[in-house]
Amino acid sequence: AVSATRIDGKVFAQTLRGRVGAAVGRLKAEQGLTPGLAVVLVGEDPASQVYVRSKGKQTLEAGMNSFEHRLPDTASQAELLAKVAELNADPAVHGILVQLPLPGQIDTQTVIAAIDPDKDVDGFHVINAGRLMTGASGASAPSVPCTPLGCLMLLKDRLGDLSGLNAVVVGRSNIVGKPMAQLLLAESCTVTIAHSRTRDLPAVCRGADILVAAVGRPEMVRGDWVKPGATVIDVGINRIDAGDGKTRLVGDVAFDEAAAVAGAITPVPGGVGPMTIAVLLANTVTAACRQNGLAVPD
Ligand code: NDP
Repeated sequence: AVSATRIDGKVFAQTLRGRVGAAVGRLKAEQGLTPGLAVVLVGEDPASQVYVRSKGKQTLEAGMNSFEHRLPDTASQAELLAKVAELNADPAVHGILVQLPLPGQIDTQTVIAAIDPDKDVDGFHVINAGRLMTGASGASAPSVPCTPLGCLMLLKDRLGDLSGLNAVVVGRSNIVGKPMAQLLLAESCTVTIAHSRTRDLPAVCRGADILVAAVGRPEMVRGDWVKPGATVIDVGINRIDAGDGKTRLVGDVAFDEAAAVAGAITPVPGGVGPMTIAVLLANTVTAACRQNGLAVPD
């Protein structure tokens, strides 16, 4: 018995891409500025190739310039750093994204640290993490990691003011869990960050008005972990065996069980997933405006 509202990330992302496209149109017409996103892919990881392809496609569809750079999986760290330096210096490139994971001979943190923080549209640079944590605004406002920012947009669209709500974020990665917690804190939620060492995780989750699962464990969060009426955001993308040689995608939340208890919930696929690239495009427009001293469109 599904009673929860299904939060449609696909539709929301489409609307966001439409807004981005309109903003790009105005920047081109009024300022002669075409925002540009450069994506660097090292190696042949199949999932990464799919992501890079759809990023390029959606960037072009929004009217922006897309620059794709491919390096062989044998590329050295020095070669990748040289590529990043070239993109940092290129005025047509407003956003730089180095697709992760990187091959073992390359140190991810060193590469991220080499990206100009103002072009770091993934929001992974320590400067942007620090800006987010300290609530920096105006010219030094952070680039915020795309997936958690997309989650926050869905939450605000559904709930409006989040202040005073109890939020539990399960997962503490630098890419999802930690920035998600910072964003919710900035919205004046009371935030708990749970992880693999948390004691009695089901009880912790039952206290959540907002429950964000970013774990990477298929259907770990069960229905009886969910507070009645809570808003559940499922970041997980897990491919599991569906029998007869087929696979299917599931989230970190047991959807049917949770949907019987929650007030609203994101499905997998079609929830958080589609938001990530739409937010990336929005971050690129924001970066282009800031680099040119222009007001950031809302
Ligand atoms: P990580 O593997 O980096 O982090 C997982 C986190 O979950 C860790 O903090 C870990 O805790 C915690 N965890 C693991 N097992 C348990 C457990 N049994 N109980 C409680 N906590 C646990 O993953 P990411 O943050 O990168 O990604 C999380 C999920 O989100 C994945 O399924 C990924 O595919 C998906 N994802 C989706 C995106 C999208 O929608 N576009 C983008 C990015 C990720 P500890 O730190 O203690 O080890």
